[in-house]
Amino acid sequence: MSEALKKKAAALDAADELRSRRALFQLGDRDEDVYLDGNSLGALPVHVPARVADVVQRQWGELRIRSWAESGWWDAPQRVGDRIAPLVGAGPGRVVVGDSTSVNVFKAVVAGARLNPGRTEIVVDATTFPTDGYLAASAARLTGCRIVAVDPGELASALGPATAVVLLNHVDFRTGRLHDLPSLTAAIQSVGALAVWDLCHSAGALPVGLDAHGVDLAVGCTYKYLNGGPGSPAYLYVAERHQRAFDSPLPGWHSHVDPFAMAPEHTPADGVARGRVGTPAILSLLALEAALEVWDGVSIDSVRAKSLALTDFFLECAESHVEGGVSGPDSPVSLVTPLAHSERGSQLALRCAKAPVVMERLIERGVVGDLRRPDVLRFGFTPLYTGFADVERAASTLARVLAEVAEDPTA
Ligand SMILES: *Cc1c(COP(=O)(O)O)cnc(C)c1O
Repeated sequence: MSEALKKKAAALDAADELRSRRALFQLGDRDEDVYLDGNSLGALPVHVPARVADVVQRQWGELRIRSWAESGWWDAPQRVGDRIAPLVGAGPGRVVVGDSTSVNVFKAVVAGARLNPGRTEIVVDATTFPTDGYLAASAARLTGCRIVAVDPGELASALGPATAVVLLNHVDFRTGRLHDLPSLTAAIQSVGALAVWDLCHSAGALPVGLDAHGVDLAVGCTYKYLNGGPGSPAYLYVAERHQRAFDSPLPGWHSHVDPFAMAPEHTPADGVARGRVGTPAILSLLALEAALEVWDGVSIDSVRAKSLALTDFFLECAESHVEGGVSGPDSPVSLVTPLAHSERGSQLALRCAKAPVVMERLIERGVVGDLRRPDVLRFGFTPLYTGFADVERAASTLARVLAEVAEDPTA
């Protein structure tokens, strides 16, 4: 059984058109190690350290202040935004990079409410990543709205003439469930509300189509599937039709039409630059810019096809290797992520009674996923550098660990 799956893995790897991308990343050289946490912190592209060293030594060390113009520091938030744009289906001039996802959630929700005055409700995904919920609640207090929390599956029941803005996660960070962005956006807009999407777990893993689906505002982070490095700056998308009226709650001097006029009053810049705040974290921003080169020539449709093939193959291997399988009544785990491709992101979440000790032992054996307390094992699949042999190895290691833990009454 195991030999057949290893052979199948080798054949899938040989036929994989993204296979050559793996060499662009630093992944360690122990064959048994499998990194399945790129949905939390993407791996390092090998060319990035030298590029960062150049930014530090030459641009900062030698050019110093001249780098704002000569090294393109000033325009970097929009330039890097334009580089991310094709990955999320946005045209140029609609994405700006800077600040954290949390800060951009705040900007988007407050600005969204201001674009829709007179309405009194901000609807939030009840299962949202916590930071989104906290910031939406603060945005509601500031704009005089109230929060309505709803499961995205029951969104329609929460929408009405009072709805100003709806904040949703494209892929649920815990379960890996992919929400239907086109139809939910249409439902939100049918009541005159604005759709704000958080793309943290979808950008770089699957097609998003922001322009094509008429999304109003979106945010996302760059250190997960986009491999920008720890704390790399997030992005904000503002649909072209909203840019003239976009009124940021954080109008710093970098969003001023003429920053060096040092004017006492804020006059917003044209375009998506009005989503900027103050001086960006240039080192992180330029590390991200370098990291994005791994996407050159990659089609996001092929990334999606491989992502689904990887998660399908993991389930096939786990079904075969794990005593009791992963879906049967005797299985030691249960799949939380939907089986339907149309509802699956690029991760698998497995519920398991002894999840903490299972994940600890997996990590000891080099298979790195993560734990979402109390009982969810999370495995992220990053199509640019995860291979099918990795998947087979991870599933057989999981099977061994589950068997061990089952036999160990102290575990
Ligand atoms: C990772 C993640 C964040 C992270 O926000 P930070 O401000 O970067 O800490 C926010 N929202 C979602 C949905 C995430 O998955």
